[in-house]
Amino acid sequence: MLARWQPLLDVRVQRFFVQTMKTKWGSCHHKARTIRFNTELAKKPAECLEYIVVHELVHLLEPTHNARFVALMDRLMPEWQFYRQMLNRLPARGGHWNYCAPPCALSAVERHSGCDAGVIGGPQP
Ligand SMILES: [Zn+2]
Repeated sequence: MLARWQPLLDVRVQRFFVQTMKTKWGSCHHKARTIRFNTELAKKPAECLEYIVVHELVHLLEPTHNARFVALMDRLMPEWQFYRQMLNRLPARGGHWNYCAPPCALSAVERHSGCDAGVIGGPQP
């Protein structure tokens, strides 16, 4: 899947990891050009996984969730908001994992080195 999207975005990922993560579906490290995916994603619909892949790849071009980021997402994957909602609704491990809880949604984050394609479980109290 990465092989399919990288040429489209004209980016190359240095390394990527699939690992167990408690709080995020995916993350990217802009400077190191590495991205990580949560192993739990493997159990999700392919569209959702694809959305995370594209989301993290776009971060290599645009590290924040700013207007440019949204524009890129819109162009590459017009239905991305739909997939995000879909992920949001999917229950996991008996609890609800919020994918990209509203505060994370496209707010411009300066320190995005641990991007969060989404925060599982939403903001902590
Ligand atoms: Zn993000």
